[in-house]
Amino acid sequence: MKIICVGRNYVAHAEELGNQVPDSPMLFMKPPTAILNDNKPLYYPDFTNDLHYEVELVLKICKNGRHVQPEFADSYYQSIGLGIDFTARDLQQKCKEKGHPWEIAKGWDFSAPLSDEFIDIKELPDPKSIKFGLSLNEKVVQQGDSALMIYSFNDIICYASRFFKLQNGDYIFTGTPAGVGPVKRGDMLTGHLEGRKMLTCEIK
Ligand code: ZN
Repeated sequence: MKIICVGRNYVAHAEELGNQVPDSPMLFMKPPTAILNDNKPLYYPDFTNDLHYEVELVLKICKNGRHVQPEFADSYYQSIGLGIDFTARDLQQKCKEKGHPWEIAKGWDFSAPLSDEFIDIKELPDPKSIKFGLSLNEKVVQQGDSALMIYSFNDIICYASRFFKLQNGDYIFTGTPAGVGPVKRGDMLTGHLEGRKMLTCEIK
């Protein structure tokens, strides 16, 4: 199993970090050891002083495929969940300045809390406009709508599968909307999808 992530997939988020909107999906990966299940707490890592949350819609890949064509892309996922792409923003900034890869800022152990529940996309009110968000200590800090993604789920499936074989059980983190920010020990994050509580993560 692997985790493919998309960076800068919402214009407002790219702008809040001073990044340009990419001209193709910007992909990076997290290893399977990044997953944090069962609403377990996250222990603040010792290698960062600027730990940021990024709430994201997560696709679960349901069959294997390479070089997926657009007309078949939506057959590669049926259910959607919620995840947090935790980022050591200070490390990421250093990596960017040096032109280095991001893995140490993004792919560390337990950097990807994931909802236990995945919802059948067909059961959602509007599969083309999926509303989701994140609260920090019960205050809403991020609100997203999949209709505002620069690259759609199908675009991401087609592009990613040109490079990486999609395998049943893989996850795709589809990018974060605006509103990312830092956490500190004692904070509680709660993720919602279409009004449904999907995920909690306490920072310890
Ligand atoms: Zn992200």
